[in-house]
Amino acid sequence: MQKNKKFLLDENLGKLAKWLRILGYDSAVYKCISSKKKIYLCEKEHRIFLTRSKKIASRKEQFLRILIKSEKSDEQIMELLNIIKLDNELIFTRCTKCNYILKDIDVKSIENLIPRDIIDNFSEFKICRKCGSIYWHGSHYVAMKDKLNNLLTT
Ligand SMILES: [Zn+2]
Repeated sequence: MQKNKKFLLDENLGKLAKWLRILGYDSAVYKCISSKKKIYLCEKEHRIFLTRSKKIASRKEQFLRILIKSEKSDEQIMELLNIIKLDNELIFTRCTKCNYILKDIDVKSIENLIPRDIIDNFSEFKICRKCGSIYWHGSHYVAMKDKLNNLLTT
């Protein structure tokens, strides 16, 4: 398996997809497409299909798949920890909403878009060129990092 794993997740694994994106993994969730199309995309884009459906996991087509057992997103991440490698360089490099790679952005070009106190308190900003979300290492970031550390040490 290649080093930078990519995933395709069923719609009911949205929270897990968000966590995988936080960790820097390319994690696609396609809505309203058939399982057959998803399998096709997995083969074409070299993605691993993550599903909670035993039916999908036991399909005869050739594709990489992992049957996720838990209903809870925290436990789902734990299920994957033996196959995903945590790379600190990759954490928080991807938009959690749309899976795009974030780009560094100069504060001057976004100062009208975010509150003054944030501009005063943070120096590094990243932007998603697809949805326009702007990220910085604020309280939300710290909370997610704490949760991540908790997950990884338990
Ligand atoms: Zn985005």
